[in-house]
Amino acid sequence: MHKKNSFDVLVIGAGVIGCSIAYRLAAAGLKTALLDQSQVGAGASGANLGMVQSNDVELGHSIPLVTTSFARYGQLGEELGMRLDFKRTGILHLLPSEEHWNGSLERAAALAQAGIACEMLPARAVAEIEPMVDPETIRGAMYAPDQGQINPFRLMWAYLRRAIPLGLSLHTFTRVTGFELQSGRVQGVHTTHGEFSAGTVVLATAAWTRRLGEMIGQNWRVHTFRASAMVTEPQHSLKLRSIISTADHIELALDGKKDIELAFLGLRQTADGNFLISQADRPGESLYPQISALAPKAMAIMTGRYFPILRRARLLRSWTAPTTYTEDGCPLIGPVPGVEGLILATAFRSSLINTPLAGEIAAELVTLGRCEVIDIRPFALDREMGKADTFYVVESGQDS
Ligand SMILES: Cc1cc2nc3c(=O)[nH]c(=O)nc-3n(C[C@H](O)[C@H](O)[C@H](O)COP(=O)(O)OP(=O)(O)OC[C@H]3O[C@@H](n4cnc5c(N)ncnc54)[C@H](O)[C@@H]3O)c2cc1C
Repeated sequence: MHKKNSFDVLVIGAGVIGCSIAYRLAAAGLKTALLDQSQVGAGASGANLGMVQSNDVELGHSIPLVTTSFARYGQLGEELGMRLDFKRTGILHLLPSEEHWNGSLERAAALAQAGIACEMLPARAVAEIEPMVDPETIRGAMYAPDQGQINPFRLMWAYLRRAIPLGLSLHTFTRVTGFELQSGRVQGVHTTHGEFSAGTVVLATAAWTRRLGEMIGQNWRVHTFRASAMVTEPQHSLKLRSIISTADHIELALDGKKDIELAFLGLRQTADGNFLISQADRPGESLYPQISALAPKAMAIMTGRYFPILRRARLLRSWTAPTTYTEDGCPLIGPVPGVEGLILATAFRSSLINTPLAGEIAAELVTLGRCEVIDIRPFALDREMGKADTFYVVESGQDS
């Protein structure tokens, strides 16, 4: 392999996770390149709602990951020297029925016990916090007052603006098409723009990870589902105080046949007054880039149900992106068994909250050969995958 593009480390995937990792590696003094098949934020990171949430955390093993990472947000903007629009607005997870309420009691207690501020609020108390919610439509909410929101684009570019002066080499529109392996060790990657060599390659490729694994005969159990979003015109007369989520799959054991509109709703208001609405779409390994015909309708129905005042809001655009889940709800972080020098850091449930620590973990794996900041053994690639503590996706609909 020729040495034109020769680095210590290659990070593949310029989403929030890849940008965080690339920054930490460059800051550690390693000659690092960040490659993306498209542009920065072209995957789920440029499509998401910006919720920094821990109320959906996988409870078995992920609490230290999420809480340690969340604590980093206090200083991250200052460290990176850029405003991240990080705000602790609080997240209200709406519970439409008694069944949802009862299904959330255990989770709320577990979160509170783990030190994640969380309380169950009846409908009237929810309406006091968030007067735009129609209290008649809910039994109550699980309220996480410390959680909040961030601007994901600012987050990615804050990392990159710090990392590039430290020597990070950014290669957009450079798709990895294969791996160069010798005697079970990674030597670099083949791309649409030639060969890149490095002794270590970190994959932060989320929904595309499975495909990359298949190139070297690996079967990484990263699954995808599409999530969709839309944005309204600015509503300057309205002020949403918190962030809203609601998700049947967290509280109820759905049978897979229920209405798509029940799957998930996220709602927040931007600093400019626009409402951002999102919905978890459908399972499957689809990387299809176009929004389904059902998703905007489902988002409109659900938003209008809980927020009648938004029924007349006019939409500007909608979009979709593939995102990931694993069977046990834990991410895949660590070295790839049998392929020396290849590391995965991907498939986080609610990636934004985990983004700061993902960079630190990957940098430790590269520089020390182990992770000290938290115990990542539950996230190892060759673990036994148990069953997730929540139903993360709902079987429904066809791609359309
Ligand atoms: C509509 C929507 C709303 C969401 N809302 C939230 C939310 O509010 N809060 C939250 O925490 N999470 C949310 N998520 C999930 C979150 O966006 C993702 O978990 C997160 O962005 C994943 O980040 P990532 O960096 O791991 O992957 P991605 O951002 O998907 O980045 C992977 C990158 O890898 C690149 N890539 C893939 N294959 C190759 C290749 N062969 N060569 C080179 N590059 C390659 C892709 O182009 C892509 O840029 C939402 C997702 C969606 C779609």
